[in-house]
Amino acid sequence: MGDINGFKKYNRKTPAYESVEERTRHYNEFNKAVDVDFKLNQAARCMDCGVPFCHSGCPLGNKIPEFNDAVFKEEWQLAYNILTSTNNFPEFTGRICPAPCEAACVLGINNDPVSIEFIEKSIAEKAFDEGWVVPNKEIARTGKNVVVVGSGPAGLAAADQLNKAGHSVRVYEKNSRIGGLLRYGIPDFKLEKQVIDRRLEVLREEGIEFVCNTEVGRDVSALTLKQSCDAILLCGGSSVPRDLPIEGRSLKGIYFAMEFLEKSNKRVAGDNIDFSDFDLVGKDVLVIGGGDTGSDCIGTSNRLGAKSITQIELLAKPSTKRTDKDPWPNWPMVLRTSSSHEEGCNREWSILTKKFISTDRTNLSGIEVVNVKWELDAHGVSRMIEQASSSRIIPCDFVFLAIGFLNPLFDGALEELEIALDDNRNVKCDNYQTNIEGVFAAGDMRRGQSLVVWAISEGREAAVSIDQYLMGPNATLRSNFNSALHI
Ligand SMILES: Cc1cc2nc3c(=O)[nH]c(=O)nc-3n(C[C@H](O)[C@H](O)[C@H](O)COP(=O)(O)OP(=O)(O)OC[C@H]3O[C@@H](n4cnc5c(N)ncnc54)[C@H](O)[C@@H]3O)c2cc1C
Ligand code: SF4
Repeated sequence: MGDINGFKKYNRKTPAYESVEERTRHYNEFNKAVDVDFKLNQAARCMDCGVPFCHSGCPLGNKIPEFNDAVFKEEWQLAYNILTSTNNFPEFTGRICPAPCEAACVLGINNDPVSIEFIEKSIAEKAFDEGWVVPNKEIARTGKNVVVVGSGPAGLAAADQLNKAGHSVRVYEKNSRIGGLLRYGIPDFKLEKQVIDRRLEVLREEGIEFVCNTEVGRDVSALTLKQSCDAILLCGGSSVPRDLPIEGRSLKGIYFAMEFLEKSNKRVAGDNIDFSDFDLVGKDVLVIGGGDTGSDCIGTSNRLGAKSITQIELLAKPSTKRTDKDPWPNWPMVLRTSSSHEEGCNREWSILTKKFISTDRTNLSGIEVVNVKWELDAHGVSRMIEQASSSRIIPCDFVFLAIGFLNPLFDGALEELEIALDDNRNVKCDNYQTNIEGVFAAGDMRRGQSLVVWAISEGREAAVSIDQYLMGPNATLRSNFNSALHI
């Protein structure tokens, strides 16, 4: 694959970013452009490694060595066809996927892995630039109707697949714009929204119908919808946030991350919304939680002129390198520093929050915390021990709670359809079908909070299940995982 000696000739490279000063003045993406040789050399690093573990590292089973080889040979259209045979939206994953494939890359055993995510984005952008991403208006129709509830990556991938299989697809979205967390969670500096819009244009022209501002189970009855179609797919995401119910929680200045990010994304999109609660200029911001959502709060707060940003995390600081606990090719639990962290943020680990403080009984002025130590007990279970005399107050005007999501919202569509839940209160399914015949579920709503690449994978696999349910032996959609190439 690629140049057999490429990995010896070229080091791993990804495009440089604009300087922190430049990029924090705007909300757009900030990768600098690179020339074609840069891309070809990176693709050339893919070795003929025999067993490409990257396939199984990718939740979509993307055929990575094959598209790298096509890029190396400058057969870009072939590369796009290979990539989209398993991934509906490489322009999304090429920007925001944490790339578990790279963690599983064989070259990564003793060298830097192939920059797979960057190559994926390069292929997708080339395809849009060259005009290869065009709607297919000649799809033969099956006469079956499918309703998809929710327009995040899971709903969109499923809608695309089902439409391609000839079923008529209508997507309901409660928000005013399509995209789910791609649109309202992830900020523009990671994923510009025109990237979603140009894909939606193709999906619309191919015949998918989108109905916005309509919450199924509230604005329109889920049961009535069910009766009007042949199958329903629920892709409503996991939207109930984990709270921090400690003393002072009701003070002004404490918000769930999504309350902040959703409004910020709407504001950046030019929506007429009241953003006055989030005047961060000259303010001290504290972000609780160390994942992607926390990072997005940091990047957004820096752009809004916060004076200081501190991010605290209950868990211990991870190691900078793989440990024996997560050997290759597993996903390593290592310290990750995002571009948002680089823009300015003080990070602290092993911190337990005790109470929110106010000097005027109304507005937040600080948070009382203690340091903790993590130790293994006699049974090998990790236990948290509070450190004596470590109590202190971190001054802050705003707190953003980025400590994850618990489960999907049950009130509304799930309740009306009497959908059974699993032990984690996610939708319980068998081959993506819920306890109710003809009602399917996919994405974060089924698997719990996860990643865009998993949502696309779930959407595709649920579409296979629905196609089989509707068409029996005449079903045309195939699982990504039937492929002999997927190991
Ligand atoms: C701030 C943030 C940043 C993230 N960053 C990344 C990242 O960088 N990389 C990554 O891989 N993952 C990231 N994730 C996770 C990723 O966004 C999700 O895993 C993914 O979007 C889940 O897709 P989904 O389609 O299942 O649900 P969602 O994207 O949540 O979409 C669900 C949609 O359903 C709609 N809906 C719900 N109920 C109804 C109803 N009854 N009627 C009509 N519409 C309804 C919602 O409005 C929403 O639009 C991030 C998550 C957050 C919160
Ligand atoms: S979708 Fe993510 S895991 Fe799969 S190949 Fe692309 S970057 Fe890697």
